[in-house]
Amino acid sequence: METYTPKERLARALTGQTVDRMPAVSFTQTATVEQMDACGSSWPEANEDAQKMATLAEAGHTLVGFEAVRVPFDITAEAEFFGCTIKAGTKEQQPSVVGHIVKDMSDIEKLKEYDIDQGRIAVVCSAIKILADKYGKELPIMGSMLGPFSLAQHMNGDEWFMAIMTDEAFGHALMELTTDFNIAYAKKMAQNGADTMVIIDPTASAELIGDEFYEKFVVPAHKKIVDAMREEGVTTVLHICGDTTSGLNLMESSGVDAISVDQSVDFVTAVGKVNKAVIVGNLDPVNVLWNKTPEVVKEASKKVLDTNSGILAPGCGIVSKTPTKNLQAMVEMAKGHTY
Ligand SMILES: [Zn+2]
Repeated sequence: METYTPKERLARALTGQTVDRMPAVSFTQTATVEQMDACGSSWPEANEDAQKMATLAEAGHTLVGFEAVRVPFDITAEAEFFGCTIKAGTKEQQPSVVGHIVKDMSDIEKLKEYDIDQGRIAVVCSAIKILADKYGKELPIMGSMLGPFSLAQHMNGDEWFMAIMTDEAFGHALMELTTDFNIAYAKKMAQNGADTMVIIDPTASAELIGDEFYEKFVVPAHKKIVDAMREEGVTTVLHICGDTTSGLNLMESSGVDAISVDQSVDFVTAVGKVNKAVIVGNLDPVNVLWNKTPEVVKEASKKVLDTNSGILAPGCGIVSKTPTKNLQAMVEMAKGHTY
């Protein structure tokens, strides 16, 4: 069987083409304290500075063995860009969104003029450029961003879930703002060298809002982003947290290449629920990757690999205190799985 570069292998695996073996990657955040100590670039500085961000992303490849580099590590830069209040992160903890800025239509109007080259999203784009210049020929360059529904929720607060049900015009207006932003941001990442786009939309879950509202508000938004990325030759992976089993067919209807499922989804069931989309996941980041031994990681990896479908990966963002040896156990299992 032909062998591929990691970049070719992942692109093929994400689009359902034959590969020689399993790619060894994480579609969700990769940074850990052990990597920070080894490479000398730590949170929170690595969230703010392009070179530091690239250095820490690189450690996922050089130290852990992931066959890709991926930025950023958190999902707050998008809400921060629009002016939401952010609680600063630490070396072990990611920053979080604590203040919301959109109450009504007039607030949305005020946010429509923006400069994509400003703020921390520009830092992420610069980090992608640094990584693409160094690794772009060989490794997949993964960009990731918070998806439009969760960004709208960051901007509007928890009222958002009620708002889409009681004020459709407002719901659509805010989704249009966030979706247009996501497309502009993702295109910029693609222009800087990203070849794989991970859309992290944790609260855009049919489990939370029901199929009807998911289909109305989320699917068209994701479809626009996926279409824009396809034009750029970029593959797309959609990650939504929680038990997404019943919503998988709706998630797939956006046209995404792959769907990242977490540990609350049964991998085999998920594979059976989709037509074409590649299922990726779903090692438990807490109860397997962080808190257990390499042996347990290998066992859990084997369960996914034995399905002979999809791509083995962490089920959600890697916890910062995760031991390197546990991540290496997953990488080793992936590399050893031939077809
Ligand atoms: Zn998740």
